[in-house]
Amino acid sequence: MPAPLNGEEIPLARRRQPPQPPRPSLLGRLLRLLLVTGLVTGTLLLLMAGPLRRWLTPAPVAGLNARLSADGRLLGHFPYPELPQGQLVAISSDLRLQPAAAQALLAMQQAARADGVDLVVLSAFRSIALQRQLFFDVKAERNQSARDRARVSAPPGFSEHSTGFAVDLGDARQPATNLSIRFDDTPAYQWLAAHAHRFHYQLSFPAGNAQGVSYEPWHWRFEGSTEALRLFEPAQRLAR
Ligand SMILES: [Zn+2]
Repeated sequence: MPAPLNGEEIPLARRRQPPQPPRPSLLGRLLRLLLVTGLVTGTLLLLMAGPLRRWLTPAPVAGLNARLSADGRLLGHFPYPELPQGQLVAISSDLRLQPAAAQALLAMQQAARADGVDLVVLSAFRSIALQRQLFFDVKAERNQSARDRARVSAPPGFSEHSTGFAVDLGDARQPATNLSIRFDDTPAYQWLAAHAHRFHYQLSFPAGNAQGVSYEPWHWRFEGSTEALRLFEPAQRLAR
């Protein structure tokens, strides 16, 4: 029966410990710790930068408890600047548009009339101040939450109407359908659906649109200039 092994019986060559790497100095260990901590903190800050900035910046519309989404939208609506009033032209006694949009609109109305359709303009350029009234006053009147109100109206600073490139259209022979989804049942809407692209007008909020805004068959925007295309590019990109 072999005797139990002890240290003495292990051959000398095997008793040696494998060579140990030199222990890093205290300074080396400290530097490595700092490097790792820096890398982790840096990565975390980079990941948090977007959300942090969004949470630290004040709400973009006073009185509205809502934040911007990552693509800059507020309650579904993209931000739009207000066109300086001097760049607008009158299309009637109380309605104004960008010149290119106005010219195309008049040509479109004329072409529609030739086909027996009477397109009426219900709204055109709206200042941010007017949009503020429309959003908040009507919201209060109807006892709507901001989210519910935003489904049918853009918050101030986020309306296509402020660009001078958007209009609300109706059928002059069926005023009861004005600003109602029943407008899509009128000859005016059918005509627009068939011909508006010829005049560079585009339905902004079709049924089931990616922005989550209610279906607005009456709301059309002009996309017949470089400036208009540039302004509406984010909305187009989302819709693709
Ligand atoms: Zn509109």
